[in-house]
Amino acid sequence: MATNIFQRIQGGLAAKRQNLTEFLNSAPEEKIDLCCENEREVHAHLHVIETALEKAEDETLGICTICHGHIDPGRLEMDYTARVCLEHMSEPERRQLEEELEFSQIVQRALLPQITPEIPGAELAAFTRPAAIVGGDYFDFFHFRDGTHGLVIADIPGHGVSAGMLMSSLQTAIRTMAPESDSPSEILMRINRFYIHNIHFTTFVTIFLARFDPFTHTLTYASAGHNPPVVVHKRKADVTWLKPTAPAIGLAEEFHARTELVMLEHGDILFLYTDGVTEAFNPALEQFGSQRLADLLGKNVDLGANDIIQTVRQGLEAFGNGHELEDDTTFVALKLVE
Ligand SMILES: [Zn+2]
Repeated sequence: MATNIFQRIQGGLAAKRQNLTEFLNSAPEEKIDLCCENEREVHAHLHVIETALEKAEDETLGICTICHGHIDPGRLEMDYTARVCLEHMSEPERRQLEEELEFSQIVQRALLPQITPEIPGAELAAFTRPAAIVGGDYFDFFHFRDGTHGLVIADIPGHGVSAGMLMSSLQTAIRTMAPESDSPSEILMRINRFYIHNIHFTTFVTIFLARFDPFTHTLTYASAGHNPPVVVHKRKADVTWLKPTAPAIGLAEEFHARTELVMLEHGDILFLYTDGVTEAFNPALEQFGSQRLADLLGKNVDLGANDIIQTVRQGLEAFGNGHELEDDTTFVALKLVE
C-alpha cells in the first residue's frame, strides 16, 4: 500500500512537471487564458518538483533525514518537501503542524452542510467521519441555474491544511459555477482547467457531481473518477452503478467529461460514498466491497434516508468488528418517497 502511494506521488510529480513545462512553453496569450499564476512562481515550483523527483530517483524521497525511517505517505502526498518523520520534527515544527491541523479541522467542519436542503418528494441524509484529525472527504448541496438540486461528493487525498484548503476552494468553485450552469460535466471541465495548474496541487481529486430534478425524477451526473454511486431501484429490484464519465481532476490537461442520465422512481435510493466505505476492512482483512453495500441497501430499500444512513453505519461497524476505520468515511443517501 505504501509503495502504491509512493508511486502515485512520483507519477503525480512527473505529470505536474510536464504540465508546468508545457505551460511555460505556451504562448503568452494562451497563458492568460489558462491561468493567472505569476511565471516566476511557476519556475520556483518547477524547481521544487524537480528536486523531489531527483530524491525519488535516488530513493531518498519520503525518508526521514534523521532516523531514515519512512515519512507518513499521507503527509508526503500533500507535502512532498517533508524531510523528517513526525517523531523527528522539532518542537516548534510539531506545534505548528498541530495548530495547522486544529485550524483545518475548524475550517472543514464549517464547510460541511449543517442542514440538508428540503427537496419535494425526496429525503436527503448524510454522514461523515474523518479517520485522522482532518479528513479529505467532502460533500455539499447546492442549486443549478434552473433551481434544480445539486449534490456533490469528492475525495481529496491527504490530510491537514492542504487538503482543507483545497476543499474550501473546491466548494467555492462549485458554488460559484453551478448557478451559471445546467451541466455537471461542464462544471467538472472548468474545475479541471482551474486546478491543473494549481501549483500546490500534486495529486488528484475524484468528484461525483449530480443534478436532480424533483419534478421529472431525472438525475443527470458527471463523475471524475469517483467510486460509482449506486441507485437501488425498488420496483425493478435491481441496481445501477453510476460509473465515472471523466478522469480524476488534476491528472490531465486533455479532459473530456460526459453527462449521463438516470431516471429515478418512487421508492428508489441514490447512495453516494467515498472509498472509506467499500475499502473498509474486517479483522480477516476482507474488504466491505460494493456487492455487500448493494445487498445491504437492497435489503433496506423501504427505509427513509436517515435510517438508511444509520443502517450503513451499523453495517460497517459490525463488519469491522470494532476495528477503527482506516480511511475517511462519508456517505449521502437520497431517497424518493413513495
Ligand atoms: Zn525520523
